[in-house]
Amino acid sequence: MSKPKVNVSAGPTDEPMLPLSHPSLDENDIAAVEAVLRSGWITTGARCRDLEEGFRRRIGCKEVIAVASATAGMHLALHALEIGPGDEVITPSMTWVSTVNLIRLAGATPVFVDVDRDTLMTTAELLANRITPRTRLMIPVHFAGACLDMEPIHALAREHDVVLIEDAAHVAGARYRGRPVGQDGHAVFSLHPIKNMTTGEGGLFCTDDTALAGRIRRLRFHGLGVDAFDRQSQGRSPQAEVIEPGYKYNLPDMNAALGIGQLARLDQMNEKRGRLAARYLELLADVDEVLPLTVPDYPMRHAWHLFVVRLDVDRAGMSRDDFMNGLGQQGIGTGIHFRAVHEQQYYRRTMPEVSGSLANTEWNSARLCSLPLFPDMDMADVDRVVTAIRRVLGQR
Ligand SMILES: *Cc1c(COP(=O)(O)O)cnc(C)c1O
Repeated sequence: MSKPKVNVSAGPTDEPMLPLSHPSLDENDIAAVEAVLRSGWITTGARCRDLEEGFRRRIGCKEVIAVASATAGMHLALHALEIGPGDEVITPSMTWVSTVNLIRLAGATPVFVDVDRDTLMTTAELLANRITPRTRLMIPVHFAGACLDMEPIHALAREHDVVLIEDAAHVAGARYRGRPVGQDGHAVFSLHPIKNMTTGEGGLFCTDDTALAGRIRRLRFHGLGVDAFDRQSQGRSPQAEVIEPGYKYNLPDMNAALGIGQLARLDQMNEKRGRLAARYLELLADVDEVLPLTVPDYPMRHAWHLFVVRLDVDRAGMSRDDFMNGLGQQGIGTGIHFRAVHEQQYYRRTMPEVSGSLANTEWNSARLCSLPLFPDMDMADVDRVVTAIRRVLGQR
């Protein structure tokens, strides 16, 4: 497997830019996509089925539906669950904007729940405080590769008869108490290039509810009644009819083909992420201004999707944005996962009352920063990042 060349311009240092993330693609991945291109069938078909079946076996869940993105999967789930006006959906503000946008677009009311200051994940206790008679759905978020403490959250959902969808975009390959995330209930994984496995763009909706799966599968493709991929005609039966109006959220085989090889290498890639993260933790232990996230102590296999740190802005004497710019000048790419949703323009304007009510979310939103973490990085790249951090902090 050859090391990919990261195609980015060199910064003011002589070394090439180290990006925040870079997809790990090997020659087999490229050959798999090429084979689809040469096959004459490039949209959804056998490769998509193979990816769904491979992921289903890997997770040990009943049903997997491949879609165009995690956002598309969440949209279909909200539609299938008939979430709408009058319904409250609880989710953290410390998440990607897509979830909250979809709740709004459905005409429902987003209800933000705070997160733990040092894991950035919500808890059953925090969620319990937000439940009202109007609560229909909770969408907690596994964060940065670590798993939510799902046992008490499942119990809470059962007690209040509220549906639960796990946002599993960060945890492909993770295990919670020995079992793969996504095995029970409903979970949505993302296959965006930054995530632990990718199809370019894509998503996987896992569920143990066969009826819901059938509805989502139908809604994924125009609401047509027949989903069987017909090997003879290489497509859907031309007689298929609309059962209910649906969307166009299918995953093409060009993309799915990439996911099959990614899935086969997922453990290997996550293991490398773990080794890089361990090196970060070791080197950052005596950098007092930089606080990594805490790894929860319940049993889990961490997927190390992101390496998130928080800048102690008082001790550092600089803002998070200046810190990121300084790292950029040293040729180090960084990211923000996430700027709190309620602090973004539209939500500031339409939900001004939220400001000030989510202490841990707001504290982190102003301080957090993701450092480069991807399987094709070298250990020496981690050393380079930490050296750059020390240099930036020394320049204040
Ligand atoms: C990436 C991400 C999503 C959306 O995934 P897409 O596949 O890009 O739609 C949703 N939630 C979280 C937490 C994410 O990080």
